[in-house]
Amino acid sequence: MAVSKGKPSSAIRSLALEGQIDFGESKLQEALIKIEDLTDFPEIRWHFIGPLQKNKVRGVIKAFHVIHSVDSLKLAQRISRICSEEHKNVDIMIQVKLREDPAKQGFSHDNLLEVWAEIMELPNIQIKGLMTIAPIELDLSQRKDLFKDCRSLADKLGLKDCSMGMSQDWQVAIEAGSTWVRLGSSLFGERHK
Ligand SMILES: *Cc1c(COP(=O)(O)O)cnc(C)c1O
Repeated sequence: MAVSKGKPSSAIRSLALEGQIDFGESKLQEALIKIEDLTDFPEIRWHFIGPLQKNKVRGVIKAFHVIHSVDSLKLAQRISRICSEEHKNVDIMIQVKLREDPAKQGFSHDNLLEVWAEIMELPNIQIKGLMTIAPIELDLSQRKDLFKDCRSLADKLGLKDCSMGMSQDWQVAIEAGSTWVRLGSSLFGERHK
């Protein structure tokens, strides 16, 4: 996935012309402008990867194909309810936090297992996999261990996908079994915000 947050529609257009189909955005307002600009590329699949506030759920469901950042039972329930109101189905990834990280959201291993039966039952959402972000202080071998833990949890739950790995750590993420790497700066150049 090409993470295009902070980049203009023209940059997305250039990659789309080279055949890139999956793009990730982390803010609804910013994404909607680009999605509107790029309606001549109906094959683009938009992935929502940022923290999702409850008042943005309806907008995200209408505009995005996959939500990678479902980090609480309440949020999953809300997505499910609004999807049924909108007569839509949406693919989601459950965001997990398998190491201490005050900067990030996500289910712990135990917390996810506790609510799993309930989340699985929710209508109008398809749980495709788990998503995780490595804490900034981890080195590559610690990241690989984290990604392996995420992969085993996904396997245990019967989930095919793991959305893990960014520009700094995508190689070890793939070695650990990632199915979606989310690349921003390595594709588009350094981020400025
Ligand atoms: C920004 C972002 C990325 C991409 O990060 P890079 O280091 O620029 O590749 C991936 N995932 C999430 C959730 C992001 O917010």
